[in-house]
Amino acid sequence: MEYVSTRDKSRKVSAAYAIANGIAPDGGLYCPTEFPSLTAEDWHALANLDYKGRSARILGKFLTDFSGEELADYASKAYADNKFGGKDTAPVVALDGGKHMLELWHGPTCAFKDMALQMLPHLLTASLRKTGETRTACILVATSGDTGKAALDGFHDVEGTKIMVYYPVDGVSPMQKLQMVTQEGANVEVVAIRGNFDDAQSAVKRIFTDEATRAQLDRDGMMLSSANSINWGRLAPQIAYYVSAYCDMVKSGTVRMGEKVNICVPTGNFGNILAAYIAKRMGLPVNKFICASNRNNVLTDFFKKGGAYDKNRDFYTTTSPSMDILISSNLERLLFIASDFNDALVRDLMQSLNTGGHYQTPEAVFTNIAADFDAGCCDDAQAADTIRALWEKEHYLCDPHTAVAVRVYEDYRARTGDTTPTVIASTASPFKFCRAVVEALGGTLEKDDVTQLDVLTKLTGVAAPAPLAALAGKTPRFDRVVDKSEILQTVDLLKGM
Ligand SMILES: *Cc1c(COP(=O)(O)O)cnc(C)c1O
Repeated sequence: MEYVSTRDKSRKVSAAYAIANGIAPDGGLYCPTEFPSLTAEDWHALANLDYKGRSARILGKFLTDFSGEELADYASKAYADNKFGGKDTAPVVALDGGKHMLELWHGPTCAFKDMALQMLPHLLTASLRKTGETRTACILVATSGDTGKAALDGFHDVEGTKIMVYYPVDGVSPMQKLQMVTQEGANVEVVAIRGNFDDAQSAVKRIFTDEATRAQLDRDGMMLSSANSINWGRLAPQIAYYVSAYCDMVKSGTVRMGEKVNICVPTGNFGNILAAYIAKRMGLPVNKFICASNRNNVLTDFFKKGGAYDKNRDFYTTTSPSMDILISSNLERLLFIASDFNDALVRDLMQSLNTGGHYQTPEAVFTNIAADFDAGCCDDAQAADTIRALWEKEHYLCDPHTAVAVRVYEDYRARTGDTTPTVIASTASPFKFCRAVVEALGGTLEKDDVTQLDVLTKLTGVAAPAPLAALAGKTPRFDRVVDKSEILQTVDLLKGM
């Protein structure tokens, strides 16, 4: 299997090369040039495997320069029972009205990013080895909360790597901050930056593009690497849980093999829903993908307005912060695939996005996209109503991101009359966004976030996930706060780790 840049398909690289390098030199995203099919034999085998086995088998279709033994080994470590609460790794919970909640948050940091970031360190270290890289990989991450903690947890004490996370000092929730600053491990560092998320992100970009810094790191036997969702190594592991959910639904008798389902995903950077789309290209029977957004509804407009993408709009802070985003990077891969791998077109569209902040998808390409996708959005009040209604009517507790998806799905079903069973990606534990959930249920708000967990438990009788409850007893290890202008000096910290 070969990979090319979405902006230039003339140069083909291996999966290991794509993962080790993260992004193509032309700024494009690495993408396979064809999609492997799931055969009848695959489906039969997948049905009888546990999650680890399913993950290894799906990854094997894409990462053809990795052996089956390697992938099985990584999957058994990434999705070890003691990391995923001893439950099913990605269970499907059936609710009323065709809703099938695919719970992706039973991992160590209680958000779906664990599904990829527990696997990525194994894929990345092996990819470095396979491409002849001997330097230590230093992973730099700018985060608005969820990615930072999931990356820290995935990479801590992984040999051959160091990880440094930058977060905006006032831009993450107290719970997210506590999760990050109490991170254990000898190869981790967490730095707060005075400013907002954009400041943190551009500060990190400055490190990546500073030649002197890179040269010094090289002399010290280190190289920079990244763990964000444009890396194919983060996307590929996400394909498996959609296939796994379908296998579970066939097993439970919800659908017969071959019968279609819908898939509804609360979307930010478009990585998660793109993984579902790729699963369809492999043969997963999907009727519609429903792309759910919060008040930052740039994607809803894209799908509703004939493929016109326009990031020139107000940015809103919402109760679903991981979806507060105006540039959905992975949409680039959808354009590439839906245009039958037209790199020249993608190059033009992305150029237009970079310069003017908008682009218009050609009609023929948008027709392909519209055949597969529907979309909708809702605001914080509607998400809160959904959290309360779901709890009162169905005794199911969900977080604000998942609530956005549930709401958008219910609107879709009422609007279209489509009663196809629908997989809804549940992307975070309700306890991770405890404050918004307690508020939605009419409970009391506490100053302290760990105490807040108890309030939600008393309200609902649902226990908080162990990793969040355990934060109460942990001592913060990192309290460094720096100005943007001091960012380059923080690189020195890598040497001491
Ligand atoms: C990151 C995240 C999302 C958005 O996922 P994308 O792959 O960026 O579309 C949704 N919900 C939660 C809880 C997240 O952490």
